[in-house]
Amino acid sequence: MDHRKSPPVKRYRRAEHAEKDESALSDLEDRNYVPYVPVRERKRDKLTKLGNKLYKDRAAKNVESSESEKEELTDEEDAQAMARRENISLLDQHTELKKLAEARKESAMEKQLKEEEKILESVAEKTALMGVAELAKGIQYEEPIRTSWTPPKHIMDKDQERHERVRKKYCILVEGEGIPPPIKHFDEMKFPKVLIKSLNKKGIVKPSPIQIQGLPVVLSGRDLIGIAFTGSGKTLVFVLPILMFSLEQEYKLPFTREEGPYGLIICPSRELAKQTYEILVLLCQTLKDEGFPELRPCLAMGGVAVTEALDTIKKGVHIMVATPGRLMDMLDKKMIRLDVCRYLVMDEADRLIDLGFEEDIRTVFSYFKAQRQTLLFSATMPKKIQNFAKSALVKPITINVGRAGAASMNVIQEVEYVKSEAKIVYLLECLQKTPPPVLIFAEKKQDVDNIHEYLLLKGVEAVAIHGGKDQEERSKGVEAFRSAKKDVLVATDVASKGLDFPNIQHVINYDMPDDIENYVHRIGRTGRSGKTGLATTFINKGNEESVLLDLKHLLIEAKQQVPYFLATLQSENEKYLDLGDDKGCSYCGGLGHRITDCPKLEAIRSKEASSIGRRDYLANNTADY
Ligand code: AMP
Repeated sequence: MDHRKSPPVKRYRRAEHAEKDESALSDLEDRNYVPYVPVRERKRDKLTKLGNKLYKDRAAKNVESSESEKEELTDEEDAQAMARRENISLLDQHTELKKLAEARKESAMEKQLKEEEKILESVAEKTALMGVAELAKGIQYEEPIRTSWTPPKHIMDKDQERHERVRKKYCILVEGEGIPPPIKHFDEMKFPKVLIKSLNKKGIVKPSPIQIQGLPVVLSGRDLIGIAFTGSGKTLVFVLPILMFSLEQEYKLPFTREEGPYGLIICPSRELAKQTYEILVLLCQTLKDEGFPELRPCLAMGGVAVTEALDTIKKGVHIMVATPGRLMDMLDKKMIRLDVCRYLVMDEADRLIDLGFEEDIRTVFSYFKAQRQTLLFSATMPKKIQNFAKSALVKPITINVGRAGAASMNVIQEVEYVKSEAKIVYLLECLQKTPPPVLIFAEKKQDVDNIHEYLLLKGVEAVAIHGGKDQEERSKGVEAFRSAKKDVLVATDVASKGLDFPNIQHVINYDMPDDIENYVHRIGRTGRSGKTGLATTFINKGNEESVLLDLKHLLIEAKQQVPYFLATLQSENEKYLDLGDDKGCSYCGGLGHRITDCPKLEAIRSKEASSIGRRDYLANNTADY
């Protein structure tokens, strides 16, 4: 066998493998080849890699936190987050930060408004002002009452723009459907000449803003919510039309025995009721003297014998002026009926509700046998009352002359810090600021008596009234002061609401009332009928901070000087106090707090909670009336 023959295939094949393995090895060697890198360069590469990893980690963390905790980011965190974005200019960072802060503020504001809305709803819901009978029968009047009165043709022919111009000129704000035009002269309102003459004699020549718009509204038969500062002439807005309506009724079908009243005016205090009654008596007499049919008003209030009212009722009564307590009593005993009553006025309506007469008014409503024209008047009318009232009125028109609860701009308001022990002596000095007549208000009956005694000792001609004195003494005191026989009247808030004393030069608040509304009412006794008055208020550390804040903001609004100790007083919620049109508290009207911090609402709620089923608090609250 020749060994030099070509090798067997198998060997060949093995050789082939061997060749392949060799080339694979050399390939591997090529791939594993690492070129030499100097140590310095290797270190630099490592550092770059580490830096990139760190940046990626941070970016991921940022996205997470901005999504889940966006709202809770503080300004500082915002600033840090922004600083990380190195490629944004400082100006852009600032704009972005500002936007973030604004968005946060807006959402907090929205939260506050939502909370307030809830509170308001809870207040408004349970106090729908409807009679029990109406509620029970589900009666809802849809259309206002129609009267025979229409505005003069030449005013009807004028366009809406003219009406808007007049309203703007006299700062009259109106709300509602189909508002009658404002009328600038009494004779254009079609009142009898004799009535206009009688008003002229009292110095009432041209209608005041509330009368310019209010009288056409009431004469047209529309329901009204009238908001005007005290002394603006709102009494005539409901007194003149009821005289006209009563005359019309009397001409159609004279009132005979025990008929009437056709109009009912409810007032929160005896003094206010008496004052309104006296205006009615005077105007009815004027009409009668000139040959018009006799109109009989009557006064129903505590402190006056029921027999007096009954005498008039027996003859047939056209207009009744009443305080709620006596009215309820007479209705209860069937001494009067409201079968033919078609005109209801609630003067100082917010006071009536505040004093706890809400239930009584609801009951009074149930005595009406047909639709009535309803008018609510007040100097202060927080939203709670507006909501409350709207449910009982038919397509009401709201007339607002100045902000509800705003102080009269005709009063110079001076606020002085006087320590409690120095007040009585300083009072004498304060009395020198103006000539008489001067009104002094104090919260407590005891203080009124002390001041009165002190002034008498010092030879000042002073009288005093408060709820602890009997009606005769109260009436005599008011009369002596009104007729200028006495120079100074010292009183509790019983004299602060709606009372009209001519030419009061100076109102002194011996103490700051707990409620800013009372302050507005008190100082409204001066600066009436376009004249300028002065109000001095003593405050000190004993006053609640909340009412002082309200006072501070009221002074700012009325462009008065704010004393240093008030100016430095800061509210916790200062940033929410003025949300555009929505200023201060929508419940009580105070400008120094929001409804969420309203001390009055809080007090009422805790009182309600503690006196469920009892009427004690009503008795306490109304003791002075
Ligand atoms: P009142 O706001 O209704 O309590 O009215 C306050 C005072 O203003 C009263 O003394 C009225 O005699 C007086 N008064 C009412 N209307 C006018 C008017 N149009 N012009 C001048 N004084 C008026």
